[in-house]
Amino acid sequence: MVKKEEITKETSLNNSNNKITTVEIVKSEKTDIESTKPNLLPSIDASSKSLPKYPAVFSTEDIREKMTPILRHMYDQEEGAWFRQPVTEAIAPGYFDIIKYPMDFSTIFKKLDENQYLTPFQFCEDIWLVFNNTWTFNKKSQRVYKAGVKLADIFMENVDSIMKEYGYCCGRQYVFLPPAMFCYGIGGICCTIPRDGDYFVYNNPDSSRNNLSGDKYTFCKKCFDSVKSDYILVGDDPAQTLAELSKSEFHQAKNDHQEQETMIDCIVCSRRFHNICVLYHEHIWPEGYVCKLCVQQYNIKRKENRYLAHKLTMTDLANTLQQRVNEFLRKECDPNIGRVTIRVLAASDRVCEVKPRLKKHFGPQIPDGYPYRTKAIFAFQEIDGVDVVLFGMHVQEYDGRCPAPNTR
Ligand SMILES: [Zn+2]
Ligand SMILES: [Zn+2]
Ligand SMILES: [Zn+2]
Repeated sequence: MVKKEEITKETSLNNSNNKITTVEIVKSEKTDIESTKPNLLPSIDASSKSLPKYPAVFSTEDIREKMTPILRHMYDQEEGAWFRQPVTEAIAPGYFDIIKYPMDFSTIFKKLDENQYLTPFQFCEDIWLVFNNTWTFNKKSQRVYKAGVKLADIFMENVDSIMKEYGYCCGRQYVFLPPAMFCYGIGGICCTIPRDGDYFVYNNPDSSRNNLSGDKYTFCKKCFDSVKSDYILVGDDPAQTLAELSKSEFHQAKNDHQEQETMIDCIVCSRRFHNICVLYHEHIWPEGYVCKLCVQQYNIKRKENRYLAHKLTMTDLANTLQQRVNEFLRKECDPNIGRVTIRVLAASDRVCEVKPRLKKHFGPQIPDGYPYRTKAIFAFQEIDGVDVVLFGMHVQEYDGRCPAPNTR
């Protein structure tokens, strides 16, 4: 009885989402699932031909109707002036050496008018092309660069809801900014390589070579240039013997690499989604991704996610923490809040070595090292069948075996 009610609810929800045509099918098949075993449903296997392929078809008129006002809004902004017409060699000498696919607002208007965008995604791609070209060719300090940033914000505010209506995750572009990079600089001073800064890098192809464990060693330009000889000393730890590398083995680079968030196509409708938006991970679903809309519309059963945190080995510590957290959530928060899973993902014994200078300073009564246990403790909560880390902590435990002053 209860189950039937749930089905009705879901169906009415579908109705409000304008999926009237599929409602009846979903309803009858859903009832089937409830009464029979779920293994009667087609299971997802991209390699077999069992999975139907229904590429999503969009009305180009509809795309034009919905997207034109967004483009018009950006075009009419003061900042829009930079992007209204195609860039010419006269305006920006050398532009076409760097920018291989130019794009501008007038061209996009024309493509909309001529119904050239078969999917709303193609329209978004062109908009992002305008901004990415600007950000590639110009410096951050330039007005045109900033104009692009402002218009990109306006675009994202306006396009997301429309893209969601079309069954996509969003109309955004996600990029990972260059990572924080450290300089293995001279004298052990903590030195970082700034974003967009120049640096020198040695790629370490094999860890046994030169006795270096890392796969790359980076120096900021200042530290690199301050070494006058042809050789530079490199090491994982200044207390260890350093390896001497020829400066010629380094190559110069710029810390400006921006990685785009990977995207995945739904194997049924071929809509494209950000991995991060739909929580897709290829190790969990190596057979590919099926979007929520297709799961619902074609009654596809997603393969079960076997990689769930609660399946990991439980330890006393994890058990205690998990019980306390869930007890707290149950008492103090919304009772419908999902359970939190806590696990200790790594635990190993290490020794914190006392560096020679420190030992010299404190005298011989100082031990060579302080043993401890390092642990990685993570908390997960399930979102749409995927465990998402919401908290992570690395700890170092010093127990009774550890000498003073770190003894427990
Ligand atoms: Zn997205
Ligand atoms: Zn440095
Ligand atoms: Zn799909």
